[in-house]
Amino acid sequence: MLIVQKYGGTSVASPERISAVADRICATKDAGHDVVVVVSAMGKTTDELIALASAVNPDPPAREMDMLLTAGERISMALTAMAIAKRGVEAVSFTGSQAGILTDAAHGAAKITEIRGTRVKESLADDKVVIVAGFQGVDPESREITTLGRGGSDATAVALAAALDADACEIFTDVDGVYTADPRIVPTARKLDEVSFEEMLELSASGAGVLMSRSVEFGRRFNIPIHVRSSFNDNQGTWVKETTMEQAVISGIAHDTSEAKLTIRGVPDFPGIAAQLFEPMATADINVDMIVQNTSTDGTTDISFTVPKSTLDQARTIASEIANSMRARSVDVDSSIGKVSLVGAGMKSHPGVAAAVFRVLADASINIGMISTSTIRISCVVAEADTDRAVQVLHERFEPPNVSEEVGA
Ligand code: ADP
Ligand code: ASP
Ligand code: MG
Repeated sequence: MLIVQKYGGTSVASPERISAVADRICATKDAGHDVVVVVSAMGKTTDELIALASAVNPDPPAREMDMLLTAGERISMALTAMAIAKRGVEAVSFTGSQAGILTDAAHGAAKITEIRGTRVKESLADDKVVIVAGFQGVDPESREITTLGRGGSDATAVALAAALDADACEIFTDVDGVYTADPRIVPTARKLDEVSFEEMLELSASGAGVLMSRSVEFGRRFNIPIHVRSSFNDNQGTWVKETTMEQAVISGIAHDTSEAKLTIRGVPDFPGIAAQLFEPMATADINVDMIVQNTSTDGTTDISFTVPKSTLDQARTIASEIANSMRARSVDVDSSIGKVSLVGAGMKSHPGVAAAVFRVLADASINIGMISTSTIRISCVVAEADTDRAVQVLHERFEPPNVSEEVGA
């Protein structure tokens, strides 16, 4: 069997942890398998490098930022290869570029376009364990080094598993699997044995950082089951796969405090206004998430939308220019918001879940600022200070993974 194993930052945070990881890799190799390992940077290295960059330049050039950040994974890949060599097993480490991980040109948020993997395959044929630096690639046009966005090593791992036609893809992390909510916020959250690609995609996109959403997209597109499990024990983790036995009404609750809300007030209400506003946002690569437009009174309306805080300044500038040109009244910004999302494939056939969610939040005196839904998700924007409590009261009420008829009542 060919097994791809990915180890996250906490799993390789110290020499001791790297030794434990090397033991696990060697045990897998000893069991007769070919092993390709993807590593993240040690511990909080990426955060520390970002802080270093902003200490010398608050607005660092994107190219140099990627040169800096990719160094984190280069350290852990070499150390992991060394720890494996010490155990008498041959290992070789490759940067993303050496592994032939090709991406588009978007520094900081590059998408993998192709994996050549020539050297990876050659080394596997030589019976070596191959270590690949996560989170990075190279743009073949410009020959510049790129990074895939925070949490991107997950995407490296699943994309490599697809490209190499691996038999298994294991994501080793610091929790036992995917839980019904972030266990740091809800200590009583339960581990899911299985979750569908569809639900995991919604959970990841709604802030469940345990798997980067792009990795789930790769898993779904190439049908690679992903086993999310702990590097600290041998417990069975969570299988993210095509379909699951149960269609829970609510499988999990995710939260996200990384977005901010902009509201343009007094926008003249005529055809083409939304296009005029959101086209420049799209051109500037600003990821607009929720959009709410009020019914108009006296020919004007208010439009609210959310964007990642990291692009707030840019979004505010664009919104202000457009508000001026269309003679809107004002642009307000609220960067103290949180989004809480309930996800479950069983929602499709259970009316009334949204009403039950609103009742729980009302009873907890939590005000809802915005609402959006998909067929399997309900998201509410609340005050950032209320976010954790909203997750907790909703988890208590719905007890995910919940398959009972009672939930929708
Ligand atoms: P790694 O460094 O291994 O990639 P991450 O920190 O990126 O680890 O992801 C693991 C963390 O994700 C956990 O420690 C947990 O706090 C957080 N998390 C958020 N939502 C969930 C969830 N639904 N299930 C499990 N962990 C979650
Ligand atoms: N080191 C990168 C980050 O912290 C990538 C990863 O860990 O997946 O985001
Ligand atoms: Mg991660």
